[in-house]
Amino acid sequence: MAKRIAFIGLGNMGGGMAANLVAKGFKVEAFDLDPAALGRARLAGCRTHTSINAALDGVDVVVTMLPDGKIVRNVFDQDVLKWTPTGALLIDCSTIDVDTARDVIALATGKGFAMVDAPVSGGIAAAAAGTLTFMVGGSAAAFAQAKPVLAAMGSAVIHAGAAGAGQAAKMCNNMLLGATMIATSEAFAMAERLGLDLQTFYDISSKASGQNWSMTSYCPVPGVGPKTPADNDYQGGFTAALMLKDLRLAMAAANATHADVPMGRRATELYEKFVAAGHAGLDFSAIIKTLRK
Ligand code: NAD
Repeated sequence: MAKRIAFIGLGNMGGGMAANLVAKGFKVEAFDLDPAALGRARLAGCRTHTSINAALDGVDVVVTMLPDGKIVRNVFDQDVLKWTPTGALLIDCSTIDVDTARDVIALATGKGFAMVDAPVSGGIAAAAAGTLTFMVGGSAAAFAQAKPVLAAMGSAVIHAGAAGAGQAAKMCNNMLLGATMIATSEAFAMAERLGLDLQTFYDISSKASGQNWSMTSYCPVPGVGPKTPADNDYQGGFTAALMLKDLRLAMAAANATHADVPMGRRATELYEKFVAAGHAGLDFSAIIKTLRK
């Protein structure tokens, strides 16, 4: 019989992920505080519930996709670890701090659950298309159990290491992304001031040593490179607010481990300024607007 999965948090990301689980034959019991999110989940084929304990009743797996670490801790403390059948597999896909991820997994395993942290790379479009990359922290046994469920929502599922390692990989990756997006943007802005045609600079740098993902897969210059949010007036994609959230998590981790991260710190300052100036909802590549004339 198909596994029954409780899915908690059916927002921009969770909505698409739950729909992919339904499409792959899982029975999905959905819960969200927002009735509109539940309505969309019902249309996607989930069974919806107005209380979390009803959604957790009798399931084999719980997947959570929630805004932040505080909410994840509360939902697990108050509900998931109370109402889920003992022995079920718990998967938290939210982006949260490493310490909270480790604490919640320790609590869960202490109560007889298998649990992994499994944050994602790829935005709303990848969640809807089922092409997310999952970076997973937890024991080898918990990872083996989680892999088929995650594979139904993504195209890559990678074991990063012990509990919390998924979150550690996610924040190192996104710190790198924030810094390379700014570096790429300033290179284009300076090329422009030096009188270079930006398509020509792209053609050169994308085949030279400056090449990087922010340039060749997510170019911040409209009309240059592949189609990106820059071509849609920086709407859609990955918001500056979410980039700042991830950079702040990275800075907290850097402080806790005494890691020297001058580029990450500068990227955090620049995204803080950008968001404070009212651009939280723009795609994060829009930071180039602060650097071009
Ligand atoms: P979202 O705000 O669209 O969705 C979160 C959902 O959780 C909402 O529907 C909200 O009502 C629900 N929720 C909040 N508290 C709840 C509770 N106590 N019980 C049940 N439901 C509750 O956010 P999102 O964009 O889907 O992001 C979810 C997570 O994925 C975040 O941790 C984010 O950092 C991460 N993420 C997002 C993206 C992206 O591009 N949006 C990309 C990668 C990772």
